[in-house]
Amino acid sequence: MLVKCLAVGAIAANCYLVWCEETKEALVIDPGGEGKRILQEISKLGLQVKYIINTHGHMDHIAANAEIKDAIGAKLAIHVEDVPLLTDPQLNLSLYMGREYLSPAPDLMLDEGEEIAVGKQVLSVLHTPGHTRGSISLKGPKMIFSGDTLFAESVGRSDFPGGSSQELMESIKNKIIPCGDDYLVYPGHGPSTTVGHERKHNPFL
Ligand SMILES: [Zn+2]
Ligand SMILES: [Zn+2]
Repeated sequence: MLVKCLAVGAIAANCYLVWCEETKEALVIDPGGEGKRILQEISKLGLQVKYIINTHGHMDHIAANAEIKDAIGAKLAIHVEDVPLLTDPQLNLSLYMGREYLSPAPDLMLDEGEEIAVGKQVLSVLHTPGHTRGSISLKGPKMIFSGDTLFAESVGRSDFPGGSSQELMESIKNKIIPCGDDYLVYPGHGPSTTVGHERKHNPFL
């Protein structure tokens, strides 16, 4: 499984292209802005995008959903509990950034344990609430996409609607840490890290 990270939008959210080397089937995780640049990268790499997956429903992770979906017709997926954020500018925080952003409705609602095939490989869904109610992390071969739940030596905010610091810490301790020290962590903002590094050096854990 190959991964390319593009930091997009005004607050540099990490959009990840994830694909199977053999089949070129791909996912776009969190197209949070700069749709044209994401589309250019997809065509440059020759990827066939099957799904757009939002780790949660905040503006900086969903703002290019419509543009990508319109251009390539991929199916949009998000956790069932973050569906309301897609179409509510107050809940998706776009109102606070001076615009009202509405995403298309999802084609697919995700929940704990579901598996998403990417060519010959699979990502599984971990429900990791705390940043939002429907925040998810995606676990693949020796890698985990942690959205705004876990960052390199930091953790996500829990003061937005639906947030809970207790749930956030439980999600990290019970879902992400058990993946194992050798798992690469691809967060929603900032540099990548490993589970082992965070277990030893993250001041919040
Ligand atoms: Zn967020
Ligand atoms: Zn974010």
